[in-house]
Amino acid sequence: MDFAALEQQAQSYRAQMTAFLRDLIRLPGESTFEEPTARRIVQEMEQLGFDEARIDAMGNVIGSVGVGARLIAYDGHIDTVGVGKRENWDFDPFEGFETEAEIGGRGASDQLGGIVSAVYGARIMKDLGLLDDRYRVMVTGTVQEEDCDGLCWEYLIREEGIRPEFVVLTEPTDQGIYRGHRGRMEIRVEVGGLSCHGSAPERGDNAIYKMARILTEVEALNARLKDDAFLGKGTLAVSEIFFTSPSRCAVADSCAISIDRRLTDGETYLDALEEIRALPSVQKYGAEVSMYTYERPSYTGLVYPIDCYFPTWVIPATAGPVRAAVAAHRGLYGEPRVGKWTFSTNGVSIMGRNNIPCIGFGPGREAQAHAPNERTWKDELVRCAAVYAAIPTLYLEGETESSAGADVGAGAGADAGATNSAGTGADATSGTGATSGADATSGADATSATNKEQEGTHA
Ligand SMILES: [Zn+2]
Repeated sequence: MDFAALEQQAQSYRAQMTAFLRDLIRLPGESTFEEPTARRIVQEMEQLGFDEARIDAMGNVIGSVGVGARLIAYDGHIDTVGVGKRENWDFDPFEGFETEAEIGGRGASDQLGGIVSAVYGARIMKDLGLLDDRYRVMVTGTVQEEDCDGLCWEYLIREEGIRPEFVVLTEPTDQGIYRGHRGRMEIRVEVGGLSCHGSAPERGDNAIYKMARILTEVEALNARLKDDAFLGKGTLAVSEIFFTSPSRCAVADSCAISIDRRLTDGETYLDALEEIRALPSVQKYGAEVSMYTYERPSYTGLVYPIDCYFPTWVIPATAGPVRAAVAAHRGLYGEPRVGKWTFSTNGVSIMGRNNIPCIGFGPGREAQAHAPNERTWKDELVRCAAVYAAIPTLYLEGETESSAGADVGAGAGADAGATNSAGTGADATSGTGATSGADATSGADATSATNKEQEGTHA
């Protein structure tokens, strides 16, 4: 493979990639509002001579180049989170800015830059004749990831019948090659009570006091959760609290909490629910423990309900796609760091639920995600496009060198299929106590910037 030619070709698109990313930043596209972004991406794909560029019924962009039977996909979610407090930004998050080295704006790192590099990576494969008649390359611009990571790929796999051999996730990786991350789920615990006049509390049964005891046990449970050498420790955090009470002068008759549970390798939603159901106070008060469901319509109006369970996934460092990405990076830019994400991605569906191998490599930095003054780096857009363009060829070469492929699929997500479990307390915003963020499903990546000590793990 002529790495110098590849690098040169990628460099030649630096200005076009910059202009494309700045256009995408100018189109606000929070989850379920991605239509203008999707249309702009289709337009770019058409201009660059993609063989296919369309939008599916959920609103995902599907583009492809090549004609082979085998399929390799590059995925970038095209929604962004909101801007948060506007006064924390030093510049307009949608107008953005650029310098010689940087591009700023909401979505620059998470992860509009990734879709830009993927689109141009596919174009470079075309330019340099890297497309082999054995395989076809698909670029997906997927919706609602920030709201419900992986939902888009449940749709692509089940309804569009798309099943690539592997998927390159283009979320920011600080220029490392990633091969997994912890899973997560959204749990609700609800306990009932009996209201009475607040002047005679002994007549009632206060749900808030019951929840106080449950909370103490939930907090202590965090320390006992499973640890894993590569992915780190499972964690839980109470993220919301709700109550109902007839008045400020009454005993509360219900109380509920939401728990953000991060799952490490080997932990499933069943374990996580059982651990909480087994807590002494949960048993004593007959509290109900359930999983939230997500059923917000996409921008096209499509509703595709799913449990808020996002399984852990990890693939071995020796898997074919990891080796191909490492070889591509080594040939172009030297030996890469191999690691994992702190946050969650569409890999929860692709690998976690459906056992299709994923690797991660994308422009931008994890710490920029969801932060004010978000930015990315032009050099990284170019590097990612070049590495993307090299991966399929090296993957197929690696396959002929060893009898490869068979080593993928170990690890996480074995029983991931069991979704649609029963009665989830759906309406998180009931409860008069719900003063804050209301939307229980927001912020997939929200708790990301934790776990600092585990960043930069070498495989
Ligand atoms: Zn993201």
